[in-house]
Amino acid sequence: MSYFNKVLIANRGEIAIRIMRGCRELGIETVAVFSEPDRNALHVKYADEAYLLGAAPPKESYLNMDRILKIAKSSGAEAIHPGYGFLAENSKFAKYCEEEGQTFIGPSWKSIEAMGSKLGSKHMMDKAGVPVLPYTHDGVKDIDEAKRVAKDIGYPVIVKASAGGGGIGMQIVENEEELENAIEKGMRIAESAFGDSTVFIEKYLVKPRHIEFQVLCDKHGNRVHLYDRECSIQRRHQKLVEEAPCPIMTDELRERMSESALKVAEASGYYNAGTVEFLYSEGNYYFMEMNTRLQVEHTVTEMITGVDIVKQQIKVAADEELRHSQEDIRLNGHAIECRINAEDPLNNFTADPGKIVRYRSPGGPGIRVDSGIHMGYAIPPMYDSMISKLCSWGSDRQESIDRMRRAIYEYVILGVKTTLPLHHAIMRNSHFINGDTHTHFLQEEHIQKS
Ligand code: ADP
Repeated sequence: MSYFNKVLIANRGEIAIRIMRGCRELGIETVAVFSEPDRNALHVKYADEAYLLGAAPPKESYLNMDRILKIAKSSGAEAIHPGYGFLAENSKFAKYCEEEGQTFIGPSWKSIEAMGSKLGSKHMMDKAGVPVLPYTHDGVKDIDEAKRVAKDIGYPVIVKASAGGGGIGMQIVENEEELENAIEKGMRIAESAFGDSTVFIEKYLVKPRHIEFQVLCDKHGNRVHLYDRECSIQRRHQKLVEEAPCPIMTDELRERMSESALKVAEASGYYNAGTVEFLYSEGNYYFMEMNTRLQVEHTVTEMITGVDIVKQQIKVAADEELRHSQEDIRLNGHAIECRINAEDPLNNFTADPGKIVRYRSPGGPGIRVDSGIHMGYAIPPMYDSMISKLCSWGSDRQESIDRMRRAIYEYVILGVKTTLPLHHAIMRNSHFINGDTHTHFLQEEHIQKS
């Protein structure tokens, strides 16, 4: 059965290729779009057709909605997959696709809009009975009022942009003296990064774990979860290593958290693939936000469940019913993903774009590499610094660590600095090996300096 004849992929790099692979397996033709500097990129070569969007700045290329929709129309594409980043969580774009007769491969624009506000989604989940951290129910307007609420919540607190993402604009506040500055700064950053200055205050957990659930829902009211992922190893509040399942998960905790995750999906009328993020600390978990898109780390879930999430997204978008019931989805083994960024881990993760002069990717049992790079490829400086995702699967966690170590040994990327040496150190760290991680793991272990 063919779901769509042709799909346009409104993205670049590894994720564009990942989506095209799914399309190819389903017999769907693919349309790539690209910016000037991406003219010779792998995703352009991989696609059946490719069209220039415009100059390098995202506004002129990968965020240029008019141009993308024009290409979709003229190429005869029937659906658009946004990948992650760029237009993936832009409800205006999802709506625009609908208006132009294109199927948006993702949730409805209404779900995207509802979940796009961290504050709005917390309200919704709070009401639905999902645990949330104490927070200011409205955006901060008055400093004295904010001080009063922060005192009630108890320091430390965190100031967050309601429209935020990518860890941008978040600030930890230790005491009342720091609060005013943090709010003003947060509002400034939020306004310039997201065009919305709304900030709110939430209780800050000192060493939580980041645990998330992958959900998959169709347009007919069927909802399943594809188990959990642990994403606590982060730099600047951004994930660096993810694994599935979470190493400290128990049957009882999974039962409770997955039930909350599905409640979140249900309360927001969600369909397609999505991720419900929680913070976990001392036996308690709290809803943080829902990501209404395919996640970078969907790979590890695919490896432990055998479910191809991209193909499922396409089928759901084509109005298919889910074929899996919850009982059909079995957890098998353990998977880890290392995000290989062109960054210098010894110099505060400064981006290090440039030309790859030698490249050899690893292989062998249990290894998966999703990347958009090759020998001679020049990494453009203006986009995401993540160049490859190295994933390992093992029949248990220890085997997936052993395989990851072996794959890191095999991986050759010369010409730019990468996070590979840091991953090498993490895979040898005794706390990591024991599954004993939290969101401050990297700072505390000082392994980026080793
Ligand atoms: P973004 O959408 O910008 O990525 P998130 O709300 O998803 O931001 O949070 C990203 C990370 O920031 C979390 O994984 C966690 O490490 C940290 N964080 C966010 N909120 C809190 C909190 N209340 N307490 C402790 N850490 C937090």
